Amino acid sequence: MILRSVTPIRPARAIALSDGVLATRDGPYVVIRENYRVQHARIETTHDLRATLRAGRFTSVGGYPLFLYTSDGAALCFNCATKEYRQLSTEIREDTNCGFRVVGVEINYEDATLTCDHCSKPIESAYAVDDTAPTEPGE
Ligand SMILES: [Zn+2]
Repeated sequence: MILRSVTPIRPARAIALSDGVLATRDGPYVVIRENYRVQHARIETTHDLRATLRAGRFTSVGGYPLFLYTSDGAALCFNCATKEYRQLSTEIREDTNCGFRVVGVEINYEDATLTCDHCSKPIESAYAVDDTAPTEPGE
């Protein structure tokens, strides 16, 4: 067996590009990892899930709020998905379906009542009108 020493790439020397690729920062870009930080509408692998969580809870174009959904129709906020990553990734990897099988990401355009089915906190919507907000006279 031949052991080669590998020089680890320090994070400061790497950069995530707009197409979701992690590359070296200096000189001509060398791709370190494909699928590093990009939002996937359909999540089929643990790499897709990690890349989606890294990309954050807002779309890169337009800044629309996102949530994850499971195969049984439950909504999941990004905070819970990050906290429960181990469980989520296990279900994807072992192809099981025990309630935490994340299958995709959606934009919450107008549902003001959408809440995370794990923590019960509201999931931000892009255009929903808050009916409980006080209105100005003349509106
Ligand atoms: Zn949550």
